[in-house]
Amino acid sequence: MTQFRNVYVVVAPSGTGKTTLNNRLLSDYPEHIEMSVSCTTRKIRPGETEGVNYHFVTKERFENLVSSHEMLEWANVHGNLYGTAIQEINRISLTGKKILLEIDYQGWKQAKKIISDAVAVFILPPSLEEMWRRLESRGTDSLQVRWKRLQSAKKEFESSNDYEFFIVNETIESAYNALSDLIIHGKSPPLSKDAALEMTRKFLFEFENAAWIKDIEKQVLEGKHE
Ligand code: 5GP
Repeated sequence: MTQFRNVYVVVAPSGTGKTTLNNRLLSDYPEHIEMSVSCTTRKIRPGETEGVNYHFVTKERFENLVSSHEMLEWANVHGNLYGTAIQEINRISLTGKKILLEIDYQGWKQAKKIISDAVAVFILPPSLEEMWRRLESRGTDSLQVRWKRLQSAKKEFESSNDYEFFIVNETIESAYNALSDLIIHGKSPPLSKDAALEMTRKFLFEFENAAWIKDIEKQVLEGKHE
């Protein structure tokens, strides 16, 4: 399985700026790194292009890829299936470029068994409240959808021990510098794993105890729509 060299995995909950960071890296270093285009069963959104953002496939096609062992990893994320085709990894490998995987924590749990030498980085928000504010400021998702994303974030934080490197997205500039230093120049980010795990422990405590989270949950349970 050693053909999967030079793989960089970036995992982050929604609202941590992962897409902005990855897109900037890809546009600054097009000769060095390429994003693996995943397959998904979710509907194409306005502004997206088949083969660029994703390969948009039917559920049947996706399930065939899984049963014929053509997926490196796959997961159900927010009700849709997403996966990385082995063929896509091989295609980028042949170009000699580094491979960027933007997958979720469930995907990484599977993929790390096969590509154990991949570099896995977890992007953290500076605080849960800031993450929630960023989800709100997108202005695209209902309260219910944002709540679902917050719950997924909890699962992501619970899996934080699965990563080697951690970057806090305090500002896009500092997070981008840390990410490009790591992926392009092989320099470790300033935050140690111990410090990052301490941060995620605090987030998990907050999930269970913070009044503002209980308040949002109450609104969701009451079926409050905006
Ligand atoms: P979106 O629908 O917003 O494009 O993506 C939702 C989430 O799906 C992203 O946060 C990303 O982590 C996850 N995702 C995208 N592609 C893949 C993939 O190939 N495998 C896995 N496991 N997750 C993916």
